[in-house]
Amino acid sequence: MLDQQTILTKLKTVKDPELQHNIVDLHMVRGINLEASGQVSVEIALTVAGCPLHEQIETEVRQALLDLPDVNQVSVHLSVMDAGERKQAFSAAFGARTTPTATRPSPSIGPLAGQAKIQGLANSQTSMVAVASGKGGVGKSTVTANLAVALSRLGFRVGLMDLDIYGFSQGRLFGASGGATSDDQDKIRPWNYHGVSLVSMGMFVREDQAVIWRGPMLGKMMDQFFQDVVWPELDFLLIDLPPGTGDVALNIAQKLPNAQLVLVTTPQAVATHVAHRAAEVATRARQRIVGVIENMSYLICPHGEVLRIFGEGGGQSLADELQVPLLGQIPIEPEVRQGSDLGTPVTSQTKLGEAGQAFLAVAQEIVRAVGR
Ligand code: ADP
Repeated sequence: MLDQQTILTKLKTVKDPELQHNIVDLHMVRGINLEASGQVSVEIALTVAGCPLHEQIETEVRQALLDLPDVNQVSVHLSVMDAGERKQAFSAAFGARTTPTATRPSPSIGPLAGQAKIQGLANSQTSMVAVASGKGGVGKSTVTANLAVALSRLGFRVGLMDLDIYGFSQGRLFGASGGATSDDQDKIRPWNYHGVSLVSMGMFVREDQAVIWRGPMLGKMMDQFFQDVVWPELDFLLIDLPPGTGDVALNIAQKLPNAQLVLVTTPQAVATHVAHRAAEVATRARQRIVGVIENMSYLICPHGEVLRIFGEGGGQSLADELQVPLLGQIPIEPEVRQGSDLGTPVTSQTKLGEAGQAFLAVAQEIVRAVGR
């Protein structure tokens, strides 16, 4: 006998491919309609409009229901969750808000209110996550871009501020083109690519133009980024910090007190050593370190052999030293580099490879760590 409960039990076998939870517990099943003739129609609410995996969800729902002996026809209607429903889905997937443990006291996390001086985000519930590295070339900008897209793919409203003033690359990584546009009050409108609101020096100068911002100019530029951008409502603002531990990094860190920080390193001992210094800058600026991401951890060869080109264990040992979690390990993958060069981060592609999955998993860890 076909009833709602039988349908729901069957739908529990279908998982959201990204959140890795069944669609019933994620509150994605909005309505079920049964006809005596064996026709079933269901409404499935996606976490995000234009979810790249909607076809997979739809197919799996249809197949699962057609498996039931009394069902002979299935129609699936897709809709999209509102912000409240999405929150409910994420708390089902990621559990309750995390609270700092007694053994690791940390400053308050979460909302920006009263902490940062970023105009337009004051009083909002935006979580600000800055991405730092001890030195250049470890993949900090690549990781930031992919995390931004992964968070957007998970249904969050995401902004990205490229504060890597001397080595800005986010415009290219996102395939952005055209200069800055402003509203009638001369406020900068962010670019919008791959679901991410983006502000970068690339809006004002070409990447191949040498940028020598000396002290006052640099300060002015940063003030403009902090005060003159019309950000939409955001759940996350990721900040691509300059590499290193110099004055610029410290200056920016001090402008963003209590921002949460993610450190990117390669597995190499020397890279983790300099990343440790970046962590010290953060601590001086009273920023909370959310965790460590190890990039370029390994390479999978065509025959499945795993090569650890840059050594092993650096990310974990840095995380242990700082008493923060290792949020994930990202493999070296030619597609990551290609995606960056083409302006289509791997996380924006429909089918996620090993690195894309790893970025998505790290994004989920960040969601959990900041307690959204
Ligand atoms: P940073 O911001 O730390 O200076 P980038 O993000 O510019 O580093 O990355 C340096 C280079 O390494 C770029 O060419 C980028 O495409 C490449 N890269 C970064 N991470 C990966 C990865 N996981 N797999 C393959 N190439 C990567």
